[in-house]
Amino acid sequence: MSGIQGKVVAITGASSGIGEAVAVLLAERGAKVVLGARRPDRLAALAARIERAGGEAAWARTDVTRRADLSGLVELARERYGKLDVLVSNAGVGLISPLDDLRVEDWEEMIDVNLKGVLYGIAAALPVFREQGFGHFVNTVSTAGLRIVPLQSVYAGTKNAVRTISEGLRQEAGDSLRVTVVSPGFVRTDFADHMDPAVKARLADMKDIAIPPEAVARTIAFAIEQPDGVDVGDIVVRPTAQA
Ligand code: NDP
Repeated sequence: MSGIQGKVVAITGASSGIGEAVAVLLAERGAKVVLGARRPDRLAALAARIERAGGEAAWARTDVTRRADLSGLVELARERYGKLDVLVSNAGVGLISPLDDLRVEDWEEMIDVNLKGVLYGIAAALPVFREQGFGHFVNTVSTAGLRIVPLQSVYAGTKNAVRTISEGLRQEAGDSLRVTVVSPGFVRTDFADHMDPAVKARLADMKDIAIPPEAVARTIAFAIEQPDGVDVGDIVVRPTAQA
């Protein structure tokens, strides 16, 4: 199958920002979307919005740091829609800070969400994709992993670990599964809300150049809509003005 119509796409971090934009765009183009994140009120509202617009959506409260939650999200897709075509592992946190601050709990959270969360997604979906004989992993990484700068080393490290694992997965996947990594640059979302205010202030200039999350959603749609034999491996999408 090529195109987006009729595909079942599970998306983590679907309650805001890039994940929400991906869900809306893919549903508009005929995908059945399965939404996961920790805020059920936002997922329910998004699913209702998609259904009002004529789309199909299911949702489950999903904390990607819990392996069972990822299994549950994949199971929901199969129970409700009979299959899973794509898992978009998009949930992420950017608790950036100088290493000297020793915010070890923030480091651990980034490892748990950004790295282990993606691995739990692979653990949940890979056996299903193998059984089906088709499937597509889309992992959201970051340009932070392409240009390493101060404050972002742990965040970038988690993203580059996902980049590396994704390439290994692609090589092991064989000729029936696809693996895509998307590296967004600065995107206008709630992402910086959880950052330390002093760090956030240092990034304030970036707000002016940030691209809308819909730009990343279109990029992900491009990868998904390719014919089965075409694997879009690695995409960078960033503001033209980003250094
Ligand atoms: P948002 O903060 O808007 O979205 C982050 C999403 O991740 C939310 O839906 C949040 O949902 C979810 N999330 C966080 N922790 C967990 C968890 N433990 N379990 C499940 N879901 C979780 O930011 P973005 O849309 O910008 O971020 C999406 C992805 O894009 C992230 O991986 C980020 O690293 C990446 N990215 C963002 C860039 C940017 O400039 N904005 C640039 C490059 C990459 P909830 O709180 O409801 O659980």
